[in-house]
Amino acid sequence: MDPDARCPCGSGLSYGECCGPFHSGAASAPTAERLMRSRFSAFAVGDPAYLLRSWHPDARPASIEIDPDTRWLWLEIVRTERGSERDSDGVVEFRAKYRVDAPEGRSSGVQHEVSTFARVAGEWVYVDGEA
Ligand SMILES: [Zn+2]
Repeated sequence: MDPDARCPCGSGLSYGECCGPFHSGAASAPTAERLMRSRFSAFAVGDPAYLLRSWHPDARPASIEIDPDTRWLWLEIVRTERGSERDSDGVVEFRAKYRVDAPEGRSSGVQHEVSTFARVAGEWVYVDGEA
């Protein structure tokens, strides 16, 4: 993805100033919310390796497939608990709007989830989520 393009997470920053460095491994997400945003962006840009890497090792699936028919349109952070630079766990509630352009037809929806994050060896990782 073009580093000068708007970051898919909706921060208003460019991809190169926002989630891009997390995806490339140049930087680590400092907060649970930033990690959540970068995981949404990873779905949007199609980076399954980052999704796996940012998943808690005990909860991580063996592989992940990103549905090429699904477009992730925007992300809204509803609420956060803890998850700051000084915390070791955190919760992020979000709503993510998507559109599916499948051969069978077009549909859209909103994924509303409360996600749990933890810090493992200093790095924020996704633990699990409840829809
Ligand atoms: Zn971003």
